[in-house]
Amino acid sequence: MSIADNISRVRAEIEAACVRAGRTPDSVRLLAVSKFHPKESVEEAVAAGLYAFGENRVQESIQKFPDLLAQDSRIELHLIGSLQRNKVKQIVPYASCIQSVDRFELAEEIIKQRKKLLEAGCATLPAQLKLLFEVHTGEESKSGFTDENELRRTLEICSLASNTGITCSGFMTMAPNTTDESLIRKSFASLRCLSDRLRQEFPEAPLRELSMGMSGDFGIAIEEGSTMVRIGTAIFGQRNYD
Ligand SMILES: *Cc1c(COP(=O)(O)O)cnc(C)c1O
Repeated sequence: MSIADNISRVRAEIEAACVRAGRTPDSVRLLAVSKFHPKESVEEAVAAGLYAFGENRVQESIQKFPDLLAQDSRIELHLIGSLQRNKVKQIVPYASCIQSVDRFELAEEIIKQRKKLLEAGCATLPAQLKLLFEVHTGEESKSGFTDENELRRTLEICSLASNTGITCSGFMTMAPNTTDESLIRKSFASLRCLSDRLRQEFPEAPLRELSMGMSGDFGIAIEEGSTMVRIGTAIFGQRNYD
């Protein structure tokens, strides 16, 4: 199966899940997770009409993406993996979305580096930087906010940075890696509930995005309200971790 065939199949499965959930197909965005796959695979996906890509490591992102971003202004890079504070300045010039904001200090650093790069007139800096706040909702995953008050404080400082082109776009989570569908569903539903509550508390922030669902569980995620699914294996095949 080619990457283009895989994308068609995934799109059809997304549509089917939307129909089951009584949602319109354009209410779910497809993010192609290209980690551990070469630039050529990204180019194949672009040729098949996909423009939003997720990477989980800074080093790999800045090796693969600067050329791609320069070649085609429709391409977007989303960082979806845990981000160390000292790597923030390397990724901010290229990413238009950071989905793994999982602690207050990280948000502070992102805002600081975005301001610096704006002042310096960084040529590659995307016009907007969307932030998604990663929340811990399942037993097995280690990343994500666990303290709701820290999440609130983080939302506050990020909302105040809108003059730098930063938007608080929503939330991200990873469900536990289990075959127990009820646990997966519970994890997604808990993110949706949290998001509903925080949207009321922060009416000035858009917070529309719910990034949830990967190759193995995106159907359930869509039934539970996902607005963005992050799909790697089902598009690009198995990853080689050597
Ligand atoms: C790798 C990864 C994905 C994609 O996983 P697949 O199972 O290959 O679809 C999604 N989200 C995050 C945060 C990831 O690290």
